[in-house]
Amino acid sequence: MKKINPVISIILIIILAIAGYMFLRRNDEPKKSTFFAFDTIINLTVAGEDAQAVLDECEREIYRLDKLFNVHSPQSEISFLNENAAQSPVKVSQELYGLIKRSVEYSKDTHGAFDITIKPLVDLWDVKSGKNIVPSQSDIEANLKKVSYNDILLYPEWEIGFSSADTKIDLGAVAKGYATDRLCEIIKNSSCHWALLDLGGNIYCVGDREFSIGIQDPKGERGEYFRVIKVKNTSVVTGGGYERGFEKDGRYYHHIISPYDGYPADSGLESVTVKGTSSEMCDAFSTAVFVHGKDLAKELSAKNKDISFIIMDKNGNAEEIK
Ligand code: ADP
Ligand code: MG
Repeated sequence: MKKINPVISIILIIILAIAGYMFLRRNDEPKKSTFFAFDTIINLTVAGEDAQAVLDECEREIYRLDKLFNVHSPQSEISFLNENAAQSPVKVSQELYGLIKRSVEYSKDTHGAFDITIKPLVDLWDVKSGKNIVPSQSDIEANLKKVSYNDILLYPEWEIGFSSADTKIDLGAVAKGYATDRLCEIIKNSSCHWALLDLGGNIYCVGDREFSIGIQDPKGERGEYFRVIKVKNTSVVTGGGYERGFEKDGRYYHHIISPYDGYPADSGLESVTVKGTSSEMCDAFSTAVFVHGKDLAKELSAKNKDISFIIMDKNGNAEEIK
């Protein structure tokens, strides 16, 4: 057999190594996408083969879900339900039915601190409008009477009715969580290695890569963290009144409303972070604990082994509850 010149073989090996490295790098180069949906900024980072196609699929999925769950759009399925369910039961998609059914369960689990029938009070306070008006006590009381998850009637065959003409649903505290879980499924069913999904504070770290996630300091600038946690294949959801609100006559009013008294929740907490595998559950529980307070975090983590909390109270004390 003819001997190959050693110099040529070394050159060949180097060329092959470089080509291999370039190929792997090309496939592993993370792709990013930033867009606005669900009333928030969405940042998706996906790594692996077909990352761009997977990102496009995620984006389409978000817009599809927005059409189902967006209460601000008169064309959404939830708006149709809100308009008609008090007259007679409405047949809805299995997805909307499932989300509402599980939301009722979250209400039961959280002593009613989380309640999707909060919409009349959310509209009354209208925190996001920028009008900055504090409603009268009598208006708050009148709208508080309209809030009760017991007025949601779940029938077989995906039909939902309302037992009161005043019942209206707002999915703002849980829809982003559900959407995050759906995106996570898309990634897991693709050939991608890992992904970092951030739907305005609803984070999911997907794949076998470990991520460091910073938890926003409620009193700091955006991007200032009071803790950094390492997570893998986990959702991390942070919520708190500091995110949206207005100040009036020296008092701060925010967008998370207590179904107990009709006012922006004031349970002594500044922010609530929840870790778990269901982003939807984390989303619901972060809102609920913010409304109800620290004791509920202890109760929920004792019942759900998969869930843990990091809470920050008004005095700046952080505590982990497992
Ligand atoms: P964010 O959407 O800012 O991440 P949350 O997940 O806590 O924060 O959701 C807050 C939104 O949920 C509000 O803007 C409102 O639409 C709705 N909401 C407010 N209070 C409650 C409540 N007690 N239970 C369920 N939904 C609520
Ligand atoms: Mg929430």
